[in-house]
Amino acid sequence: MPPDVGLRVKFWGTRGSIPVAMTSAELRRKLITTLVRAAGRSLDTPEKAASFLEQEIDFAESNTFGGNSSCVELVTGRRDYVLCDLGSGARVFGNDVLAAHGPAGHTFHVFMSHVHWDHIMGFPFFLPIYTPSNRIRIYGCHAELEDAFRGQHAAPCFPVDFSELSSRIEFVRLQPEREYEIAGLSVKAKLQRHGGDSYGFRFQRGGRVIVYSTDAEHKQDDLGEVQGFVEFFRDADLVIFDSQYSLAEATSIKEDWGHSSNIVGLELCQRAHAKRLCLYHHEPLSDDQKIAALLAETRRLEEITRGDRRVEILAAYDGMEIAL
Ligand SMILES: [Zn+2]
Ligand SMILES: [Zn+2]
Repeated sequence: MPPDVGLRVKFWGTRGSIPVAMTSAELRRKLITTLVRAAGRSLDTPEKAASFLEQEIDFAESNTFGGNSSCVELVTGRRDYVLCDLGSGARVFGNDVLAAHGPAGHTFHVFMSHVHWDHIMGFPFFLPIYTPSNRIRIYGCHAELEDAFRGQHAAPCFPVDFSELSSRIEFVRLQPEREYEIAGLSVKAKLQRHGGDSYGFRFQRGGRVIVYSTDAEHKQDDLGEVQGFVEFFRDADLVIFDSQYSLAEATSIKEDWGHSSNIVGLELCQRAHAKRLCLYHHEPLSDDQKIAALLAETRRLEEITRGDRRVEILAAYDGMEIAL
């Protein structure tokens, strides 16, 4: 057994439903705000400018949460790669692997929450599938798992048929609520409320726990269901949680649209004694300011409602890494 070097999580795609790009108008607004703040300062070297941005400008002005759809890497310190979902972020991840470690001889383990388009659309652009010595094992609980990937490659929607992909691609059907040992991790899937069903995953290694729970709607009046998720999140070091909607939206106009809110995520994490809650699957209509406001609101709520344990609140952005 290699030594336990800890786990890291890297986010390659954090946007819900469809990828989005920052608009020219938004970039311009950020530049104007920042240039005005910098007036009179002698930011005449890249180092001074970088430290000014770091220390004095809010993340939403100096950065962007990003626009690729769902894809998260669990960095285990082993040679095999572990991913959750293959949204458009998988394209960037694949390119990064190729640039750093060459095109061939890789093994990828991918856990699929479900096969809605935003969670599989990165696969045709995930370059490792086109190299023969690569192996891709795709795990999921849906009976349609393989059909969905094959269908996405079919004419007339994509020029390369699935049968022409030269890597070794295997589909592995998992049963929910059963514990598996895969790529050095214990993993358990849980059924979630979502159109066509989705599944959350609880990963565990060496006392560290990561929960990936996206595309899930929670009915707070179903106490049995709530308790099931409290147990699923129990003592997690990190819960990656679908907070696409505000609570008002999730319980009114967008009820039954299959997504959840920051408020529900915080309540579940508080009850489960989870250490960190990461807001994820951001609403495509939200610009960086709106996501930053959601993060600030969630942090304020956590402070007000805190018992004897704190939940650290984060908002995922493309490129963010969390060490556990
Ligand atoms: Zn989604
Ligand atoms: Zn979905």
